[in-house]
Amino acid sequence: MITVKIDDERCKGCSLCVEFCPKGALSISDRLNMKGYFVVSFADEKECTGCATCALICPDVAIEVFKN
Ligand code: SF4
Ligand code: SF4
Repeated sequence: MITVKIDDERCKGCSLCVEFCPKGALSISDRLNMKGYFVVSFADEKECTGCATCALICPDVAIEVFKN
């Protein structure tokens, strides 16, 4: 099972992870965090391979990927 954990309060909505996800599994949501950024959300769990590209590319370390 793959879990993609997003820390809303670290996310600044820069979309890097959205652009780099090879499966298009992430998108910017309409949810605002405390700093006023629209945060990313995990949109398509079925497509996610657990490659962790999103976690590596995020400059704010807002994403963690777990596989078990
Ligand atoms: S790369 Fe990080 S900061 Fe940028 S949208 Fe994705 S989770 Fe948020
Ligand atoms: S782990 Fe890979 S496939 Fe899954 S959301 Fe992140 S970049 Fe996309």
